[in-house]
Amino acid sequence: MNLTIGEVLQKTTAYFAAKGIESARLDAELLLAHVLGLDRVGLYTDYHRPLTSQEVAAYREVVARRGRREPVAYITGHKEFYGLDFTVTPAVLIPRPETELLVETVLEYLRDFSATGEEDPPQVIEIGVGSGAISVALAVSSPSIRIYASEISQDALAVARENIKKHGLEERITLVPGSFFSGLPESLLGRVKVVVSNPPYLTGREVAEGQPEVKHEPRQALYGGPDGLAAYRQIISEASNWLRSGGLLALEIGSAQAKDVVSLIGETEAFSAPEIRTDYAGLDRIVLAFLR
Ligand code: GLN
Repeated sequence: MNLTIGEVLQKTTAYFAAKGIESARLDAELLLAHVLGLDRVGLYTDYHRPLTSQEVAAYREVVARRGRREPVAYITGHKEFYGLDFTVTPAVLIPRPETELLVETVLEYLRDFSATGEEDPPQVIEIGVGSGAISVALAVSSPSIRIYASEISQDALAVARENIKKHGLEERITLVPGSFFSGLPESLLGRVKVVVSNPPYLTGREVAEGQPEVKHEPRQALYGGPDGLAAYRQIISEASNWLRSGGLLALEIGSAQAKDVVSLIGETEAFSAPEIRTDYAGLDRIVLAFLR
């Protein structure tokens, strides 16, 4: 007789832990739920049910992939972000929980703006949309905004398009192929309320020394040039052309980059003094600046 769900989870958890995977039990559960087409609660309802031989074979295959440190989200093809389900593939960075804070911060700003009773739908630019997580979360939570989201990777654009469709936002999020601000409609110049981005910000060394999972993610979404700041230079130098007065530039940053990003913003003399926000771990994670 085959092992039960409970027994298989126990064995797999030990195997993952031996491979140095921190969230061993959680990952074993997520992958088994995926293979069985259940949610995690369902595993506990059926805890003493023996697996069929087919189920064992299918599970063994995904466990081997995870054992090679492939991220769970690429194996299941899904990641939850801001309470929403996103399709993810190795063409896109897997949305991180700390990026929810960037969404939260932008929403807070948009709420303040809507309290001023302005009638035009607020326009937002996202640079480097990836899976679409940030733009979709913003559009779902702030029903009047219009977003223009750029992305240089064709494969990432296909994933973003799927997520925008899944959440019914085709009318409100326009994908713009191209790097940074190139390709955005000129009618937006000087008009947008928010420019938001979680750009690539790791150095080559950080990519190389990161968790093995990171090596499965697109380098283009992670590597920010030799000092990790290349994307910020580009975004900061151009953002002031697109924002209206009082508009917000909201950037996710690496925890050691606050000082450098603040001084890049200061050099433009276009923004008032930037604010730094920390994440749940108490690390610097967001820089905000308002166009004068
Ligand atoms: N937060 C990601 C990481 O540490 C990096 C994301 C990025 O470069 N924007 O893996």
